[in-house]
Amino acid sequence: MTVVTRFAPSPTGRLHVGNIRTALHNWLLAERAGGRFVLRIDDTDAERSREEYVEAIRADLAWLGLEADAEERQSARLGHYEAAFERLRADGRVYPCYETAQELDLMRKVRLGRGLPPIYDRAALALSDAERAAKEATGVAPHWRFKLDHAETIEWLDGIRGVQHFEAAQLGDPVVRRADGSWLYMLPSAVDDIEMGVTDVLRGEDHVSNTALQLQMFTALGAKPPRFAHEALLVGSEGKLSKRLGSLGCDAFRARGIEPEAVVALLARLGTSEPVEPIADRAVLVESFDLAHFGRAPARFDEAELERLNAALVHQMDYAQVKHRLPAGMSEAGWLAIRPNLAHVGEAADWWAVVTGPVEVPQLSDQDRAYLGEAARLLAWSDDPWHALTNALKAATGRKGRDLFHPLRLALTGRDSGPDMKALLPLIGEAEARARLESAARS
Ligand code: GLU
Repeated sequence: MTVVTRFAPSPTGRLHVGNIRTALHNWLLAERAGGRFVLRIDDTDAERSREEYVEAIRADLAWLGLEADAEERQSARLGHYEAAFERLRADGRVYPCYETAQELDLMRKVRLGRGLPPIYDRAALALSDAERAAKEATGVAPHWRFKLDHAETIEWLDGIRGVQHFEAAQLGDPVVRRADGSWLYMLPSAVDDIEMGVTDVLRGEDHVSNTALQLQMFTALGAKPPRFAHEALLVGSEGKLSKRLGSLGCDAFRARGIEPEAVVALLARLGTSEPVEPIADRAVLVESFDLAHFGRAPARFDEAELERLNAALVHQMDYAQVKHRLPAGMSEAGWLAIRPNLAHVGEAADWWAVVTGPVEVPQLSDQDRAYLGEAARLLAWSDDPWHALTNALKAATGRKGRDLFHPLRLALTGRDSGPDMKALLPLIGEAEARARLESAARS
């Protein structure tokens, strides 16, 4: 059977790093199995869903290279939910309720006071037809709950958490439909998973108890449930659920010059037993992806780690990959010389400006100015002008180490540190290099 996974965001905001991780893992799970990855837009909440977020979700997934094999939208499938609902109603698995939010709140408090679980007490199930008619005659429209089979011990083998048990009697009948006819997420999601042939539901562990409820929905709808796996949540580097993570998404990464491959390489393995490494080759990440590698402890997302990974990936990037993002005229040799010094591709422009000049040289001592005058005279061009120059200067002046190299770097680049001078000097070129040395000698 073809593996089908899905990523099911609600378009009520931008994707954050936690959602991105779930999307990535579903994509990897499908890729690994040669299956299909479905993007399902959970837009049954018409009030809070926005088209701009749907577009942003697509754009973010495209930026990350997580394109879906199909896209579905819940708002286009309302008829399917209606049909499933009618079927459950005919079977007595959904029932109308009339309590107000205040009444439910009071009921929960009373139950807690009696030491009972604060779940719905099924009072509406006891209403007679006449009582229901009386409620509706006063203009109260019902909301609908799914009637759990309280006799069951719900069990599944979770792909990450192992065997899970829930006593159904401890769970409240979930509301599946609001009084205005709109759907809560739970039932449409089960209907979609059935009708879209989803074989694997991989989502955050905040959904574990929903899974218990949904498993009964699958059965009530006569379907074999998919496999479920729930991953530990993502926390900040300080180990806590963090507000910052909730607002950190692709826009922020892009603005900081983070490559999508860095986000993917980090999130693919965070919280697993596999080492986080600067892996640009998706096939390697796909090949090593396995739910058995996931741990149960929260995964720590560390922005400093993302930056390190980004730099390491930039250092591997080929000229052809980045050419269109480099300043005009920047050659392959330029990229290769500068690449090891970059944390982000965007910084290549700063270094290229150092190559093309002009550079501003800080105040130098009299000795260094004289030394640079000597350097200008000794500069001779070859395959490796840097070694030729520094060897000649060493012999002529007796300088060594920092005294030998540092004034040259300052005069040639205007900077204290930077790319290897052996690679940089040929890019600056003979005439320009001589002019810079002479100008520093005169300054
Ligand atoms: N729209 C739901 C959410 O974002 C989907 C959960 C699921 O993956 O089933 O929480």
